[in-house]
Amino acid sequence: MNTIGKARKVAAMARGSLRWALSRVGKPDSERAGLRTVLSRLTALSLDYVEISVTKACSLRCAACRHLMPYYDRPRNYDIANILRDADSLLQAVGHIAMLRVLGGEPLLHRHLDRLLLFLGDSGKIGSIRLVTNGTILPRPAVLRALKAVNGVLDISDYGAVSVQLQPLVALLERESIAYEIVRQPWLEFGRPVSRQYTKNQLSQLFLKCTSMPHKCLIVSNGEFHLCARSANATELGLVQRRKQDYVDLVNTPRHRIAAEIRQLVLFSDYLEACRTCEQDFRPTATASQGSAGLSADASMEFAMDRTRVGTDLGWQPDSTPDRMTTGRFAESPDNMKVADVTAPLTRRSDVIP
Ligand code: SF4
Repeated sequence: MNTIGKARKVAAMARGSLRWALSRVGKPDSERAGLRTVLSRLTALSLDYVEISVTKACSLRCAACRHLMPYYDRPRNYDIANILRDADSLLQAVGHIAMLRVLGGEPLLHRHLDRLLLFLGDSGKIGSIRLVTNGTILPRPAVLRALKAVNGVLDISDYGAVSVQLQPLVALLERESIAYEIVRQPWLEFGRPVSRQYTKNQLSQLFLKCTSMPHKCLIVSNGEFHLCARSANATELGLVQRRKQDYVDLVNTPRHRIAAEIRQLVLFSDYLEACRTCEQDFRPTATASQGSAGLSADASMEFAMDRTRVGTDLGWQPDSTPDRMTTGRFAESPDNMKVADVTAPLTRRSDVIP
C-alpha cells in the first residue's frame, strides 16, 4: 500500500476515535465517560465495520459467493464457546466498533445465535449490531428476542426467487417491531479461488484497489481476524499459504498484543496471500445464482427450495441443527446436489503456491 493509502487509514481510525469521544460530551453523568476514559478512548482502537462468521453452513449455494461457502465440503457451525471467546478477544482489544454484522453461511442455522447477540449487546462497545440472512429461514423466537434486546437490525438479502421466506420474514419482523433492512446489492465476481501468478507489484495494486472499494470488510472467523472474507476462507480451506502477517490469531496471541496486531494488519498490509486467488478485474455478476459450477440452474433452485422446505415445512428447527451439516436432515439431499462438484476443478494447496 502506498504512503497516501496508509495515511488515510490512520486518519480514518483517529477520526473514529475522536467522533466517539466527542459523542460523550454533553451526555448525562450516567452516560458520560470520565476524562480518563475519554483520553484512553482517543488512543484506543476504533473500527468502522467488522463481521463475525458463525457458520460455514448455508441454505443456499451461490456460485459467486464472496465467502467461498460452496467450497466447504463439510460445512459446520462453529462452537458457540469458541465464537464467544473470539468475540471477547476482539472486544477487549477495541474501544469501539461502529457496526458489527453477524453472518455465515446462513447464521440462522446456528442454534446459539441468540447468545452471541446478547453477548455483543452487553459489551457496550458496538454502535450497531446487525444480523445477515438470505431470506430462506425464519428466525427462532430466542433470536427475535435477542435482536430486540440489543436494538439489532436484521439485514435480509433479497435474492429474488431463492429468498423464499422473504415475505413471511418481513411480516414476522413487522409484527415483532424488529428493525430490518432489505438489501439488494449487485455482486462482483472475484473469480474462482485458484492461485494466479501475480508479481508482488500486481498483488499490491490489486489489494489497494480492492480495499478502497465499499465492500471491504474485516472479519472474525474461526479464531482469526482477517482483512476480508476471502482471506479467512481461502486460508481455512487451505487454498493459499498461511502467512502469519495476513491475520491475527485471536486464540494464541496474548490479549494485550491483539490491538497492536490488528492495527498492524489494517494499516500496514501490502497484500494478502489470498489476493492471488482474485482476478484483477472484478466483474459484475448475477446475484446469488445457484450452483452454476456444478449444477444446472433448475437443479440448483430445487436444491435451495429443498433445503428451505427441510427447514420449515418439515418442522426442522435450528435447535436441532447438527454441528456438522453433513449429518442430520441436511444429509438427505441427493448426492449429486452436494458441494463436491464445485471443488473438483480446484488444485490443492500444495499445487497452487508458486
Ligand atoms: S483477497 Fe485481496 S483482492 Fe481478494 S477480496 Fe481480499 S483483499 Fe480483495
